[in-house]
Amino acid sequence: MGHELNVGIIGGGYAGMAAAAELTSRGIKVTVFESAKQLGGRARGVLHNDTQLDNGQHLLLGCYRETLRLIELVGGDIEKDFLCLPLQLDLHGQFSLKAPRLPAPLHLLVALLNAQGLTWAERMKAAGFMLKLQGMKFQLEQDKTVKELLVEFGQDADLSLKLWEPLCIAALNTPVHKASAQVLLNVLRDALNRKRADSDMLLPRIDFTALFPQRAADYVERHGGNVHLSCGVESIDPKQDGFELVTAESTHTFSHVICAAPPSVAAKLLRPLPEMNKTVLQIDALEQQPIYTVYLQYPANVRLPHPMIGLHQRFSQWLFDKGQIAAQHGLLAAVISAEGIHQELSQEVLAEKVIAELRDEFGIVARPDWFKVIAEKRATFCCSPNLNRPTQLTAIPNLLMAGDYTEGDYPATLEGAVLSGLRCAALCLPERK
Ligand SMILES: Cc1cc2nc3c(=O)[nH]c(=O)nc-3n(C[C@H](O)[C@H](O)[C@H](O)COP(=O)(O)OP(=O)(O)OC[C@H]3O[C@@H](n4cnc5c(N)ncnc54)[C@H](O)[C@@H]3O)c2cc1C
Repeated sequence: MGHELNVGIIGGGYAGMAAAAELTSRGIKVTVFESAKQLGGRARGVLHNDTQLDNGQHLLLGCYRETLRLIELVGGDIEKDFLCLPLQLDLHGQFSLKAPRLPAPLHLLVALLNAQGLTWAERMKAAGFMLKLQGMKFQLEQDKTVKELLVEFGQDADLSLKLWEPLCIAALNTPVHKASAQVLLNVLRDALNRKRADSDMLLPRIDFTALFPQRAADYVERHGGNVHLSCGVESIDPKQDGFELVTAESTHTFSHVICAAPPSVAAKLLRPLPEMNKTVLQIDALEQQPIYTVYLQYPANVRLPHPMIGLHQRFSQWLFDKGQIAAQHGLLAAVISAEGIHQELSQEVLAEKVIAELRDEFGIVARPDWFKVIAEKRATFCCSPNLNRPTQLTAIPNLLMAGDYTEGDYPATLEGAVLSGLRCAALCLPERK
């Protein structure tokens, strides 16, 4: 039966560490190779001026069940690790929606009907749209762009700008004219349609390396596995009954390999393998979208009206008050998702725009002691309609692909990454084949 499973995992981001933790919990030996000095990949802690930041402010949803389950598996505590906000969207001075404590999806309908900043007709249109989507079980016959969907369902410009566009950019990191309506509906289905708590917004109180990947590494090592940092894989060599992974220092042999590197690196590693030609072409066809985060350290008494608040038609799409979230008083984060004209500005100019917006919108006249702009130019794949994403199972037996960009219902998210890692773990297990 070949019970000597020995799995090599390339990449210690959320996908790779999900696979590592799951396999470890099933008693299977894993070895993780991570090229960076720390784990987490596109969701990692960054230390700046003695202040713990992340490479970008992230948000989890209550419906990210597998991510939350694995955080607990490796020793986290959801209540302690997160500030949990019931669904609320606030575009400062323009629009606000807050879900009452009612069962789903009633909580959303009531929230839409009571939303401030929309006319009665707009609120009816938004609620009617949600009811129709529910009637369709959030399933389109044919995928299209979010913009096309909004037009088809009579969501006029103001309603789109205040509600659906910010939601689409936050969920898919893709502008409405390019974004897949079906993938947005998948997220709405899971977040809004089952339990009220699924739509909760969870803001971590600790950094993203500490939240899961580092705990997962400790868990793996406690159970006899290995996690190598600063140890990038340079090639994958299929052998008679397994694989060799080559790093700068040595060569390791495995029965299975899970490639959980970001798409550009995965394509580079797979290109020399002719059987993987189709996967490489699929990866090459994915476009990427950026996310910029501007962190500003103000005096400790500076705070925002809510832990998380949106701005309408400004550079800063969402602002986070790290004082209210993680007791980092005076630290604010402005998030700018997806492509846009902000990419043409220098970091200094962009930070000044954010400082001016904070002054105009909230009367914050103090200057920040420092700012730090983190530009993730390849933050996520562009989530367009009918994407042909690479499958976890590949043309080479026992070589599996994990990562937020691989096949799945979700856009590039932590939960998408984790689900792909879990699928690869399941595919390594003999009884599941
Ligand atoms: C700024 C920003 C904000 C985001 N906000 C959210 C959010 O609010 N909510 C949400 O759900 N998602 C969000 N995302 C998306 C989320 O972070 C990603 O979908 C997820 O982290 C991807 O995980 P992954 O494991 O698939 O890939 P990655 O995180 O890219 O992991 C791949 C790992 O492989 C390593 N690696 C690279 N080359 C090699 C090599 N040769 N050998 C070994 N290792 C290698 C990398 O260093 C990395 O650690 C955001 C992303 C960014 C960038």
